[in-house]
Amino acid sequence: MTKPFPVPVTDDHIHIDPVNGRGFEAAKDFQRAGGTHLFLVTKPSWSFGIIPVKGEDFALAFEKTLSIAREIRKLGLVVFLVLGVHPAEITRLAAGIGLARAEEVMKGGLDLAAGFITQGEAVALKSGRPHYEVPPEVLAASNRILGHALVLARELGCAVQIHAEGGPCADVPAMAREAGLGPEKVVKHFATPETPLVPSLIARHEAIPAFGRAGRGFMMESDYMDENSRPGAVIGPRSVPRFTRRLLDAGEITEEVLHRIHVDTPSRTYGVEIRLP
Ligand SMILES: [Zn+2]
Repeated sequence: MTKPFPVPVTDDHIHIDPVNGRGFEAAKDFQRAGGTHLFLVTKPSWSFGIIPVKGEDFALAFEKTLSIAREIRKLGLVVFLVLGVHPAEITRLAAGIGLARAEEVMKGGLDLAAGFITQGEAVALKSGRPHYEVPPEVLAASNRILGHALVLARELGCAVQIHAEGGPCADVPAMAREAGLGPEKVVKHFATPETPLVPSLIARHEAIPAFGRAGRGFMMESDYMDENSRPGAVIGPRSVPRFTRRLLDAGEITEEVLHRIHVDTPSRTYGVEIRLP
């Protein structure tokens, strides 16, 4: 057991998968390294072995994510759920049912996720657009799906985590405003520093000390995928507490910045309370 941090330590984007990955052992690793709070993000439907043909078919993925969260909470960790539809689903779904139906199914999946937020089971939506090159009609459909997520978020008063192309996503603040949602409620997962959205930076990101000094609001994430078939993918479940410890010990971030990363920004963005148990 490492010495505890003076504040909560929050991973803004992590997956835990007891079927295809290390599951609760990964959550325990996070905890042993000093982690206290995590935003657990739904994995794509194919991780659950489902091929949705209607929005309700995402129910299995969401229910399983809910039950994983319940198990992780038993370890003493605080878990906030981010439910939604992975933007890369459009490519797989369109290959089977065509682009127009894929769009409807994905919007329906977001509607279903919204129901869990209304019930207080989840705190934010996950959406975005493909991070890889796609034909213009697929990009247009993806932007309409993202627009739908932004409208739902405004109705629910919740945040949206987006997974999108590398780079700033400079057009997304205007999309959010058009939906009636403030851009401060839109989090860019795997962010690059120039984004106008709320950046969720990978824990090892070199911009973290400079962001801290500049007074910017941002969060840290592992993007741990918990897939045994891809053990080296991104970084491990301990990465947020580990890099936080390293930055703190090296004097690269102050306790005030620590608080801003792990408490203030996620509390304000997601409207949740983050404090030590
Ligand atoms: Zn992820």
